[in-house]
Amino acid sequence: MIPTLTGGLDPSELGVTLTHEHIFVLNAELMVNFPSRFPADELVDRAVRYLEEVKASGVDTIVDLTVMGTGRNIPLVKRVAERTNVNVIVATGWYTYHEAPAFANLNGPGRLLGGPDPLTEIFVRDIVEGVDDTGVKAGVLKFAADRYGITDGVFYIMQAVADAHLETGAPIFTHSDPNQRNGLDQQDYLEKRGVDLSRVVIGHSGDTADIDYLRRIADRGSFLGMDRFGLEARLPYDQRIETVAKLCELGYASQMVLATDSSAYSMNFPDDARQARLPRWRAPEVMNSVVPDLRKCGVPDDDIDTMMTANPFRILDTTHRSKE
Ligand SMILES: [Zn+2]
Repeated sequence: MIPTLTGGLDPSELGVTLTHEHIFVLNAELMVNFPSRFPADELVDRAVRYLEEVKASGVDTIVDLTVMGTGRNIPLVKRVAERTNVNVIVATGWYTYHEAPAFANLNGPGRLLGGPDPLTEIFVRDIVEGVDDTGVKAGVLKFAADRYGITDGVFYIMQAVADAHLETGAPIFTHSDPNQRNGLDQQDYLEKRGVDLSRVVIGHSGDTADIDYLRRIADRGSFLGMDRFGLEARLPYDQRIETVAKLCELGYASQMVLATDSSAYSMNFPDDARQARLPRWRAPEVMNSVVPDLRKCGVPDDDIDTMMTANPFRILDTTHRSKE
């Protein structure tokens, strides 16, 4: 069974799946210090309405890749999931472009205070036992590298994610910056650690139209996260569509997953700015716009089904893998 916010899901019931979305992108410090500015009931109501739209667009499951560092709040998203019929798979990991959290800099093998790696322990526990006392298990692992590349802090997180993956088998989703081509650096490290690269989704690959780079990632076995439709500043929508269509033509449909990386609510993007600048940056747009536009570009239905249903199944289904 695949763990979701509302219990175990048979992999055959995943259906149409968006593999990189967020319910909330929050700042844990602001949430703790100014709770009156962010009333939980309102956030939950808003997210329920959003997920109803996602469901109505034809999506059955989302992977919420919000991890620690971007305000993961399992009790809050659990309340949302209990009121919708979208399956929500949650993630564990730590989001940073720079430093690891201080407790991880000081504790762990080879660091000042020694002992086991605290991040690995947290990640494994989230997957195997569940997140604290929420009764919710994480289904996937996540780490990030952005324009600063593989900093020491990023390396600590990446190392802990690889360890937790090798121990649990949970798939790895990354945040990469294709302009720095650091999806390849992520693959280099994970490969060195003995991670099967077909268990890895190199996220935000869709931020580039560089077909040569994208083929290099895919040819090593990983999935390409074409996962930011509507985030115009990184790459305009039409170019994202053209890039996916081109890769389908080249035979790469079996290695792409589609999503928007947007959210029901984000502290980073005030509503007004978002509506004015990024009107299409919403999860329902994948089925409402992206899929029809890919069809217009000649992408066959088989390829659409592969990207929306079969590939997420292959990535997320850990139950059947041992029988392969
Ligand atoms: Zn994201």
